[in-house]
Amino acid sequence: MANVTELFGSMVFDDRKMQERLPRTTYKALKKTIKNGEPLDISVANAVANAMKDWAVEMGCTHYTHWFQPMTGITAEKHDSFIYPAEDGQIIMEFSGKELIKGEPDASSFPSGGIRATFEARGYTTWDPTSPAFIRDKTLYIPTAFCSYTGEVLDKKTPLLRSMERLSNVAVALLQLLGKTEVTRVTTTVGPEQEYFLIDKKTYDQRPDLLFTGRTLFGAPAPKGQELEDHYFGSIKTRVAAFMSDLDQELWKLGVMAKTKHNEVAPSQHELAPIFATSNIATDHNELTMEVMKKTAEKHGLVCLLHEKPFAGVNGSGKHNNWSISTNTGENLLEPGKTPENNLQFQLFLAAIIKAVHEYQDLLRLTVASAGNDHRLGANEAPPAIISMYLGDDLGALVEAIIHGTDYRSNGKVNMLTGVDVLPDFKKDTSDRNRTSPFAFTGNKFEFRALGSSLNIACPNYMLNTMVADELAQFYEELKDADDLPTAIKTLVKRVLTEHQAIIFNGDNYSEEWVREAERRGLCNYRSLPEAMAHYIDQKNVDLFVRNGIVTEEEIHARYEIELEHYSKQLRIEALTMIDMAEKNITPAVIGFVNKLSEAALAKKQLSAAYSVYAETTIIEELSKTLEEFVKKTAALKAATDNAALYADDPLRQAGYYRETVFTLMEELRVLGDSMERKTAKSYWPYPSYGDILFGV
Ligand code: ADP
Ligand code: MG
Repeated sequence: MANVTELFGSMVFDDRKMQERLPRTTYKALKKTIKNGEPLDISVANAVANAMKDWAVEMGCTHYTHWFQPMTGITAEKHDSFIYPAEDGQIIMEFSGKELIKGEPDASSFPSGGIRATFEARGYTTWDPTSPAFIRDKTLYIPTAFCSYTGEVLDKKTPLLRSMERLSNVAVALLQLLGKTEVTRVTTTVGPEQEYFLIDKKTYDQRPDLLFTGRTLFGAPAPKGQELEDHYFGSIKTRVAAFMSDLDQELWKLGVMAKTKHNEVAPSQHELAPIFATSNIATDHNELTMEVMKKTAEKHGLVCLLHEKPFAGVNGSGKHNNWSISTNTGENLLEPGKTPENNLQFQLFLAAIIKAVHEYQDLLRLTVASAGNDHRLGANEAPPAIISMYLGDDLGALVEAIIHGTDYRSNGKVNMLTGVDVLPDFKKDTSDRNRTSPFAFTGNKFEFRALGSSLNIACPNYMLNTMVADELAQFYEELKDADDLPTAIKTLVKRVLTEHQAIIFNGDNYSEEWVREAERRGLCNYRSLPEAMAHYIDQKNVDLFVRNGIVTEEEIHARYEIELEHYSKQLRIEALTMIDMAEKNITPAVIGFVNKLSEAALAKKQLSAAYSVYAETTIIEELSKTLEEFVKKTAALKAATDNAALYADDPLRQAGYYRETVFTLMEELRVLGDSMERKTAKSYWPYPSYGDILFGV
């Protein structure tokens, strides 16, 4: 293994390489763009493009690609070679500033939600200089934003960049008002913890449900699940350890700061956490991480499952979005400090976040909604579908004190006495964690825990940034002309906390009591994507995005339609896959087994009428009954799936229909299928069992 410090970033056109390879003036101009968001000159772009190309070619690259994040939910790329015709039929390797800045993939097949008719195929990708270019598979990857010919936003990166810009502008204005004149830029930071499953490719290849939908649509539970809790933080198996080590190396080469890895709760489930970065880079890196996970798994004869719920009965996978805000002077604005009761700046930002989460809880809920995540939220393994905030004992007490005008005393950090001489004593955190909360304060950042494992984190982050920016802008307006600023801040903070305390909940989010309590508090509880998504286009939400210049009303409607259609398509694929598995394999397998039992019983009786055929006939009877129901239910599912076409012109209604009717039938069909799996001889069952898959690595 190469030295890690040398390996790190070796495939990235990072700051060090830019300094080495760019003329000083070009380097300075580029840095200004990256740091302050200043527009880039074409001569600078030409010089950067040339240096990038020289480096890439030295590294063995023949191609480059603009890499973007259309609304499909995965990344897209189109590769062009550097070759350029020269004299005498020769070629040279060329890459111009224009090619670096602008790409023109045929956009007609990317979802646009009706913004752009397919005949207007033009879409542009634009270089995002704030996220460094990198090399994969002999290709130079250039992170880009994606928009239509007429300028409509068609991707996830553009709104994220705009929201970061907007938050920076309003936060800087506010901080300057507070006297922090040296602050000129504020950045949001994100550290996403990524969960995933790792299974053997041999079992995966035999499961059409995993292949087509990413999750098992049938499958009786294995005798052992996660009940012994022996997998969580358990020692890592050799084969998995080899994968993880390979994965770390690949990610480090790409400049992704992969830091923590461990086994998760469910068998075959694991987690990887990087060191946080700016929201933009964290998003690109998380997309890269998911792709590299899949490719690295293949090399090890494994498959990495990123679906939110690949297996029923054991935990699914999520993603924790650790989020904070920091200044160009290196200050974390969510650091309460030793005396948060006197830290008005911290209180102001905290109040903005509390107000934002309360007023836009629906947006936070719907941004994590997906067909896959519908299986997790509220299933006592992920936070519930009700969005609330956990502040911890210390901060919770501070908020109470502010609301009631009482004294506040911090517990401070308490010494933890281990009681064993050879173990060092250490400082205990001031409050324990609440693992059940969807949005928890964890010392100097918030952890948004409701994300699904496969989600592109750009969406939750641009929503979060936008809503907080909007509140900060309101605060600025209220405070900017105050004669006595500290008093004005105290008044504002007290009012906001009082009005929005309903969003704070420190108890057990999994309890039945909380569902009732949340209802009394008027909090939303949207159980599925169609329920949540209906609120995307509520006027207050449209106004939020338009007012802050993130996306237009038309673009919001487009996104709304894309999400709903995507959901309906996913459920349709699942239903069709189930029907296919039922008709082509499960039903024939059970018939075959019943037939075998019948033959066996007959043969026995021929030998002697005295032989008992109790076992054979009992199983035949049970299986025949269930099989009849199974065949009827398959037909019902088929009819229901066909019926969905009736709602084709109303995406919300169609998604609702898939959820209520189609999905319910799928669940019922599964119960019947799984019950037959339990009674059918393994040699007859057409698919690897949960035991084979979950304990196969
Ligand atoms: P947990 O105990 O929640 O599993 P981890 O240490 O695994 O915690 O993950 C915490 C994540 O939070 C890491 O990715 C870390 O880099 C990130 N993080 C720490 N500080 C910040 C911050 N200021 N902004 C954003 N993310 C942060
Ligand atoms: Mg966490």
